[in-house]
Amino acid sequence: MPTLNRSQFLKFSVGLAAAAAAPSRANGQARKATPKGAETVLTDAIVLTMDEQRHAYWSGFVWMKDGRVSRVGPMDRLGEVPPTVTRRTLKNRLIMPGLINCHTHLSNGALRGLYDEMPLELWFAKGMWPVLDGLDRKNGEAGAYLAILELMSTGVTTTATGEIASPHPELMDGVLTAVEKSGMRAVVSRISMDSADESSPAQFIQKGYRDTPTFAADEVRRLQKRFNSDRISVVPEALGVMRCTEEMVRSLHALSRETDCHFTMHAASSQDERDGSRKRFGHGSITELERRGVLGPKTLLAHAVWLDDGELKLVAERGTGLSHNPVSNAYYASGEARLKDLVSAKCRVGLGVDGSSTNNGQNVWETMKMAMLLQKAALEQASFGSAELALELMTRGGAAALHMENEIGSLEVGKKADLIVIDIDRPSLAPRQTIVSNLVYSNDPWAVRDVYIDGEIVVSDGVHRTIDKPSAIDNARLALGRVLKTAGLEDYMATRSSWTWK
Ligand SMILES: [Zn+2]
Repeated sequence: MPTLNRSQFLKFSVGLAAAAAAPSRANGQARKATPKGAETVLTDAIVLTMDEQRHAYWSGFVWMKDGRVSRVGPMDRLGEVPPTVTRRTLKNRLIMPGLINCHTHLSNGALRGLYDEMPLELWFAKGMWPVLDGLDRKNGEAGAYLAILELMSTGVTTTATGEIASPHPELMDGVLTAVEKSGMRAVVSRISMDSADESSPAQFIQKGYRDTPTFAADEVRRLQKRFNSDRISVVPEALGVMRCTEEMVRSLHALSRETDCHFTMHAASSQDERDGSRKRFGHGSITELERRGVLGPKTLLAHAVWLDDGELKLVAERGTGLSHNPVSNAYYASGEARLKDLVSAKCRVGLGVDGSSTNNGQNVWETMKMAMLLQKAALEQASFGSAELALELMTRGGAAALHMENEIGSLEVGKKADLIVIDIDRPSLAPRQTIVSNLVYSNDPWAVRDVYIDGEIVVSDGVHRTIDKPSAIDNARLALGRVLKTAGLEDYMATRSSWTWK
């Protein structure tokens, strides 16, 4: 069988040169155990292992046992698997590691389409705080189910997500309930903000939406106790360097150290933040985070668009995880991140879709494609990147950004059996000689047929086993209606189209 070993051509290995990260451990509390799938061997499929040497097999197998990969290889080595193990033949299918989405906001799942070309004045008047008023537990949970439905059915097995818990702290319980029921592996950040500095209108936090560091920490601990499991990790987030006081940033980072979990932030994410940070601190926001001592060891920053050379070096040295969100950056015209430089510097960089209010899809395949295309456009360099790089960023790159590369991101013996099965017998994925290119550049998200997490099948032949699709879609419709009403945006939505509607 031919083996596609491209390691000799791939100089950059997507951030894996950084020091090995600690394996994921309990956040100070015992973790709930989650189901592990039955022992099974999947055979006769194209297998992309995404391992260190990027072994790929035109016809291979993956043996899953106790929720982990027990063996993976070409079919001529199937004899290594005991004949008693249940077999599932997957002709015309491709198996690859589950996709890792490094950034979204699950509770925004029902807000899709709301912010398209919204005038800035309206965004300030109704789009920001009044919408948050509407995002209570019920609406946030409904949004989360919709977002998870899309992410999971199109191949995401691990997601990072950040949720604004003001003014409704119980929104977190709704989102986490949805995550728990779905079976998704997730790093769920509880976002806090507290800056009363009025010098930048876009970064100012209104009274009533400000947490105190003590309340924020107490809430994170409460949620960790209730929801942490083998698959779920609740972690603190300080929204941004301009939107949080130094005390908030430092104390939430200290909490993450104390409970051995991630610390997340949005950073260098817009021109407004770039200019505001220079004005307020005299330097960029990454430099400010270094001064506050929070760039490592398990920090994950979303966006990281506006980095100078020194800051780029800093995030590489500190092993800071970064989520590059190309579609969201383009949606808000907030600049094009230096993806080529981040990859060259061996930063821990993965990809994120961002929330439905800034993307609007939760389509990770589109994000992979756009990551390549937008960087080609920004560099005016058609030779930049590759479909292989895009797939690496969405698997091993994501694992590195989440500091979870010892557990997920590739199909290797001992790693978690998080994998997806793709139907390659579809028009957009033919011909199979160029299958890797087709997956990214001619993408077909719904070609994903099966999704396994810990070897447990959560999507089977396109059917979700843990989420009821019709009610998730219906509940999202109702949730958006309630949010529009609370925010006073019903009239705007009814009149914003220039077409004649009857
Ligand atoms: Zn975000």
